[in-house]
Amino acid sequence: MLKRFIRVDVHNYKVDYPDSCPICHHHGEISVVKTATVENGAGVQVVYQCAWEGCKSYFIGYYPPKPGSELKLLKPIKPQITQFPEVVAKLSPTFISVFQEAEETAALGLSQIAGPGYRKAFEFLIKDYAKSLAPDKCVFR
Ligand SMILES: [Zn+2]
Repeated sequence: MLKRFIRVDVHNYKVDYPDSCPICHHHGEISVVKTATVENGAGVQVVYQCAWEGCKSYFIGYYPPKPGSELKLLKPIKPQITQFPEVVAKLSPTFISVFQEAEETAALGLSQIAGPGYRKAFEFLIKDYAKSLAPDKCVFR
């Protein structure tokens, strides 16, 4: 992640600068809209805006107190969804939808929920694959 100077209150200081938009995932220009020291100096928040015409979304970067430069969190985020080949989508559309929900859950940091979601997704994939190999012998519903 690149470092850049941003102006907070009356001082410039160097911080980790987001290199892509957490919503559309474009690697384009991101501009600083507003900065502030919050909670009596307990941290710094920066409102960024994605410059890509198709997005223009605002998001917030959370930093430790000055002169801390580490980008702790960006919010909101929209997870990047894994794309699967057409053959998988045809074989098991339920696998795709359950897997994508698990990915969204994981991106929110809810790993206790995401894990069983991934397992459920793979159960659908394996079951649908087995059905496609021997539809006449299928014991699954
Ligand atoms: Zn964007």
